Amino acid sequence: MTRESHVEEKHPRAESIKLREKMTRGVEKNVTALAGLLAHGRGEAFDYILGEETTAPGMRAITAAAATLLLADHAVLSVNGNVAALCPEEFVELSNISGAKLEVNIFHRLPGREEAIEKVLREAGAEEVLGVGEDASARIDEIYSDRRRVDPEGIFKADVVFVPLEDGDRTEGLMRMGKKVITVDLNPMSRTAQYATVTIVDNVVRAMPLLISEVERLRGEDVEELRRIVDSYSNREVLSDSMRVMLERLRELSEKGVFLELHDR
Ligand code: ATP
Ligand code: MG
Repeated sequence: MTRESHVEEKHPRAESIKLREKMTRGVEKNVTALAGLLAHGRGEAFDYILGEETTAPGMRAITAAAATLLLADHAVLSVNGNVAALCPEEFVELSNISGAKLEVNIFHRLPGREEAIEKVLREAGAEEVLGVGEDASARIDEIYSDRRRVDPEGIFKADVVFVPLEDGDRTEGLMRMGKKVITVDLNPMSRTAQYATVTIVDNVVRAMPLLISEVERLRGEDVEELRRIVDSYSNREVLSDSMRVMLERLRELSEKGVFLELHDR
């Protein structure tokens, strides 16, 4: 079992390698599905293009997401095997400061996986975890996978659902049920990114601490100010601007070269 990181801090791709180690540990603990590794790899590719940092449009989406969470009557944070491997502490903290409930919701409900994710969340400090076992007794007819099973006290009755790294079918189903959907997705072209109410095009490990700070900052604001933020937000614009960041970065790199020092040799 890989317990500690084998990567040295000075390795140029140290951060990315550490995340891969978290993902493989997630698989070893039955928290993450093998298909989750593929989804992570797809995310990495987009992160490389994005420049592996939070962008200005990403930050605008984070502010709108924080205001949407604070205005919700009943918000739920949906936790899958990838986020449980990458940032469970941040999910528990976001739940604590926003009042949103935590619900395990996974594509492949294989034996023991929900319980393994619940354990990770409880170890990270969660007191209540919805959606495990028989608790996921409600069905969403709009969704055609195991994820249609949800907790009647959680996603089923939620008005706002935070579903990072989500599959397009499920996001579409939640939207059709009239819910507001907030997502984090490095691919601005994915169906989830395109369907959602608020799409944060960023790596979930960078977005979560920023989302927590924004919720803390906006918690003291009055409802009118929060509504103003939500009403003036355009996800279409944020998606276009996120793609433009990628486009411009590629243009710049294609003109200047990626690793100047290597090319100059
Ligand atoms: P869709 O079903 O929405 O069209 P997809 O089939 O390409 O998208 P899924 O596997 O269903 O992708 O969902 C996973 C999504 O999560 C992908 O778009 C991937 O880019 C993104 N992703 C993976 N890892 C991360 C991460 N660490 N941070 C943010 N996004 C990520
Ligand atoms: Mg998909």
